Amino acid sequence: MNRIEIDIDNKTFPHKLCVLENFSFNVCAGEFVAIVGPSGAGKTTLLNIIAGIDSDYKGVVTTSSGLLHDQADLNIGFMFQQARLMPWLTVLENIMLVIKRNAKAGVRPQELLNKQEKAVRMIEKVGLEGFENRYPHQLSGGMQKKVALARAFALDPQLLLLDEPFQSLDSPTANKFRDQLIRMWNSQKQTVIFVTHDLREAITMSDRILFLSQRPSSILLEHRVNLNRPRTINSESVTKMHQSILLDYPDILAGKL
Ligand code: ADP
Ligand code: MG
Repeated sequence: MNRIEIDIDNKTFPHKLCVLENFSFNVCAGEFVAIVGPSGAGKTTLLNIIAGIDSDYKGVVTTSSGLLHDQADLNIGFMFQQARLMPWLTVLENIMLVIKRNAKAGVRPQELLNKQEKAVRMIEKVGLEGFENRYPHQLSGGMQKKVALARAFALDPQLLLLDEPFQSLDSPTANKFRDQLIRMWNSQKQTVIFVTHDLREAITMSDRILFLSQRPSSILLEHRVNLNRPRTINSESVTKMHQSILLDYPDILAGKL
């Protein structure tokens, strides 16, 4: 996966609600970028555009090989703000649904079987071994998020989009999730765009943080996180960077801009 260039002149919903304006940034191959911004700024809208779910905007999303969504062999993993599992499908079936939908026509049964084994391995990786045949309503909210994380990784994505993935989890569970995600990223080094409203989390996870303005949203500030990994959310180095950003940019973080 090459560097991605996002250039959105304008994204306007009906009734003239302009959400994104002059919104441009690049993400390098294998980079972990966090996007921090106030609620309603357009973070989910941005991810939908990058994922190709929303094509009703003025602008382009490209790599050096051309338009991102013209690239036939590109896999994008998307972990939505809500787990969005199909309630009538088991954990394994939920993950296989994405794999099958993405499989080329005429895929051989043996290939599908291999993919199923891979899905089972992903389920084990996120710590849900033995839950393959459970239904979403039989799982806690945290477990449902784990399924959503496994599903996002199931296609071996070159690009991973994560929309406030650990929101509403208790902090020990969120910490475990963060470690898990970083371990999975370390082994494959996907390009990651990670949306959060938690600055500490952004510092803990990312190589670079982009701060968004209020709507219509654009990028106000870029901050490189040059801290060694592994990092933990309550470590001294994360706390220090957190405090210095709060001191340097109080208006941005108060959502005044
Ligand atoms: P964020 O994820 O930063 O909280 P969203 O991207 O979800 O923000 O939404 C940005 C703005 O766009 C909000 O004001 C929201 O109400 C509006 N919006 C989002 N989706 C739609 C839609 N499908 N139709 C109209 N307005 C929308
Ligand atoms: Mg959102």
